[in-house]
Amino acid sequence: MSGMSLPADLLVLHGKLISMDAQRRIYSDGAVAVQGNRIVAVGPSTEVVAAYTAKETIDARGGVVQPGFVDSHVHLSQHLGRGIIPDLWPEEREHEHWLPYWLNLSEEDAEASTMLACLEMVRNGTTTFCDHGGKFCGESTAAVVNRVGLRGMISEICWDIPPYPSVGTGDTDACLQRLERLTQVLPKRADVRVWAGVSMAGMGRCSDRLLVEGKHLADRLNLILDFHQSFASGDVAQYWKHAHGKTAIEHFANLGILGENLQLVHMIHTEDSEVALLAATRTNVVHCPAASTRVGRGVSRVGRFPEMLAQGVNVALGSDSGNYSDFFDVGRQAYLASTIHREARGLMPTISAHEALEMATLNGARSLGVLDAIGSLEVGKKADIVIHSNCRPEWHPGLNVVNSLIYSAQSVAVDTVIVDGEVILRGGQFRRLNEEEEYRRIDALAQQLHRRMGFKIPSRWPVI
Ligand SMILES: [Zn+2]
Repeated sequence: MSGMSLPADLLVLHGKLISMDAQRRIYSDGAVAVQGNRIVAVGPSTEVVAAYTAKETIDARGGVVQPGFVDSHVHLSQHLGRGIIPDLWPEEREHEHWLPYWLNLSEEDAEASTMLACLEMVRNGTTTFCDHGGKFCGESTAAVVNRVGLRGMISEICWDIPPYPSVGTGDTDACLQRLERLTQVLPKRADVRVWAGVSMAGMGRCSDRLLVEGKHLADRLNLILDFHQSFASGDVAQYWKHAHGKTAIEHFANLGILGENLQLVHMIHTEDSEVALLAATRTNVVHCPAASTRVGRGVSRVGRFPEMLAQGVNVALGSDSGNYSDFFDVGRQAYLASTIHREARGLMPTISAHEALEMATLNGARSLGVLDAIGSLEVGKKADIVIHSNCRPEWHPGLNVVNSLIYSAQSVAVDTVIVDGEVILRGGQFRRLNEEEEYRRIDALAQQLHRRMGFKIPSRWPVI
């Protein structure tokens, strides 16, 4: 080197670096240089060290360095009731918890739930998420997300055909006004970590007009439209009737809402003809394996996710919610996505570990319309970086790092999380927050909420 050293704010050195760049290069002793919130260099440690002098240096000590995971579907406001629905309850009884939870949830509760969800995502190596939207205004959600330092698209719950009048969000016009207002107060700009998208309930809870107008709003503001679809067989039957013998995707094609800024969550019960239409229109799908395996909706039995990927559909991964998957961990979702389909079919491989890692990073970024900014460790992208500790048994011998990351790794090995160039978790400690204090407040609020609901927490075994 000539001796001229370039300035950087942060260097991450000596990692087994999975770049997820176009060639999918993996550096066995790799480094990243960060200036401000952007990556300015990626390469072998020797080259990056020779070229840059940084204010802060993190030695990854041989640990895996990866682009942060993208969790493409979460419900931030449901974590205070997480794990409370008993295994033996049939689907028809879910509302016995869900409805009083919704009605009694205060804004403070929703903020605590959001905090819990964000802490969990950071610890599991997620740096960007897509929230489905809650009961309260998006600004209060955004404030919590910004406190933690995560990146994410948020929304407010929206449906003009609600399941109960008491949870309604107004008629079609009121729903559209609600969505448009939020996009104005939380615009998607290059310098923000949190922005509003156009998210709605879907699954028969939104009128055709709301879907179409929502798509127009997303088109106009360069945002995505996001809703649930085809989770249960009943959901599919409903469209069949509504669209006079057409599938849901054929119906959406007729409405003109398919396209690369549409993200459909679940898509378990699908026909081959629908997969072809999704591929032809570059419509995105979010596969939430654990949301289905927890409640037995058929994701591995009937899901066509391997076919979607084979035909070029962009399939991302999502964790869903507190009483479906019960965890916000895209690494675990990737493990399930890569294993359950081959188990159900008795075929190898259906979705490989490598494809699962693409789903958890690049595909999530594409689905959210932010592939130009995140999803890989490349020069010019935002610095969203996760470093795993190498001092954990599951990482050894580590002869194939991608297989290790998807099959063996556990989130407890996530040591450092960097979002937008800022180190928010270092050595397993949150830099901005006192985590224990947050859990005390979260637990107290959850207890109070369930007392207000009059909900007797069911337990199969006696709790003394
Ligand atoms: Zn959901």
